[in-house]
Amino acid sequence: MDFQKILDEIQEDVQPYFGKGAVADYIPALARVSPDQFAMALRLADGTEYSVGSAETPFSIQSISKLFSLMLAMDIMGEDLWTRVGREPSGTAFNSLVQLEYENGIPRNPFINAGAIVVTDVIASHSANAPRRVADFVRQLSGNDQNRVDEEVALSEWEHGYRNAALANLLRSFNNITGDVDSVLDVYFRQCAITMNCLDLVRAVQPLVLGGHSPIANRQVLTQREAKRVNAIMLTCGLYDAVGNFAYSVGLPAKSGVGGGIVAVLPGQFSIAVWAPELDAAGNSLVGTRALELFTTKTGLSIF
Ligand code: GLU
Repeated sequence: MDFQKILDEIQEDVQPYFGKGAVADYIPALARVSPDQFAMALRLADGTEYSVGSAETPFSIQSISKLFSLMLAMDIMGEDLWTRVGREPSGTAFNSLVQLEYENGIPRNPFINAGAIVVTDVIASHSANAPRRVADFVRQLSGNDQNRVDEEVALSEWEHGYRNAALANLLRSFNNITGDVDSVLDVYFRQCAITMNCLDLVRAVQPLVLGGHSPIANRQVLTQREAKRVNAIMLTCGLYDAVGNFAYSVGLPAKSGVGGGIVAVLPGQFSIAVWAPELDAAGNSLVGTRALELFTTKTGLSIF
């Protein structure tokens, strides 16, 4: 299959979709991002890579970081992690407080904010320098030392993070956060503020393609079983409240972030990442979703 030709075609095909969404505007650093950017990268299981557009331009990974912190927390706690966070889609907004209250402080899944904050607490309580640990892990997986925390974004997350602070305090009241609330939030905001590009992302998620093995870090990052489980959670919980539509139209386990990035995998075959900053009403990259849909349609490659 001529993957480069397919990516080039997709870049052309998505042009009419620019201008139909809106960049995230809850913090100034994201609101300033130029909306007309586009990148796509593909990495096959044998290490061959293809890309189109600004595949080396770093962007704010935001909620895609929840995927890396989950991998880290599974490595730390194993199955015990699931006593503190569930594995069901939430059917509510990613930052909702209501469900957490009536489900007694056990978040539905690790990809809504409440669940990600619990995962962050697991990492924080098992690390000498937790803020560094997530970023170090990402750098190991991507092989790119330039993947750093954007301090301006991290600070803005703090300044506008009332709802996340409310979630963290509610979790603390249920004893589902063991550490100091502000320290846990600091780690959470910093992981959201990590910057990566599309090529970094397709390299960093290779353990989800290769049964837990990272060819970049040259080690087994997850067991094969854990990799399967992370993929299952991506499929059922990775796209905010649009996960059903995404499975329907794209058909790949994926994780998105409000920076406009989406990373997806076909286990055993490839990882693919797309970045286009304008979001749809659910908070997923509008052009990015369309590009991934075109990719699975043109290639006939999806988990279904
Ligand atoms: N930093 C954002 C928040 O916690 C993450 C947004 C996202 O990508 O979902 O609100």
